Amino acid sequence: MDYVVTPPALPSLPVLGSTARFPIHRMYCVGRNYEDHAKEMGHSGREAPFFFMKPADAALVAEGGETVSMPYPTLTSNLHHEVELVVAIGKGGSHIKAADAHQHIYGYAVGLDMTRRDLQNEMKKQGRPWCIGKGFDFAAPLGPITPAAQVPGIGSATIALQVNGQDRQRSTIAKLIWNIAETIEQLSTAWALQPGDLIFTGTPEGVGAVVRGDVLLASVDGLQPLRVQLV
Ligand code: MN
Repeated sequence: MDYVVTPPALPSLPVLGSTARFPIHRMYCVGRNYEDHAKEMGHSGREAPFFFMKPADAALVAEGGETVSMPYPTLTSNLHHEVELVVAIGKGGSHIKAADAHQHIYGYAVGLDMTRRDLQNEMKKQGRPWCIGKGFDFAAPLGPITPAAQVPGIGSATIALQVNGQDRQRSTIAKLIWNIAETIEQLSTAWALQPGDLIFTGTPEGVGAVVRGDVLLASVDGLQPLRVQLV
């Protein structure tokens, strides 16, 4: 096949225990999916799930164990961290029932939904799309995928984020308002899920700003941690 411009590389994640990689198709994100985070953002903590997306090539991939450098983005002076459990879809489908959702999950990774909070807040105020606040280059640092069978306790795992060794976020996946299966059920009514899709499931309370030089350590028990330095 000839293309008139060079086709972009396919973004992908490493998979623990395999030399084969997980190709990234789309990156979906759930908004306000932990009650105490919804409250810190000025909401009640109880609402139907809603979704936004990041472009697949906004993934900033950690191969495993190393510290990845994230360029501090342009146009913001309030870059926020949001540590999230990321679900990797291995089998696609529409209108997936929560009871069947586990059959569609390939595995899990730790991700950061990095956010230009000042721009996101301005867009909210004006009723405009969030893309510039959420979908910028390198906005989605991600660690390697662990196959689902290796982390049976993921639904009650501790999720945490430290900045320069200090705790900023610490909660449990059990506090998701819409759990993993319910999120897949809801999301798959709006889009046909495809193998290669990633779902950022939402962040717990404690989001805050980071600056150049900060080192972020994002973790979910049972998964490979993710270490990112702002440069
Ligand atoms: Mn988020």
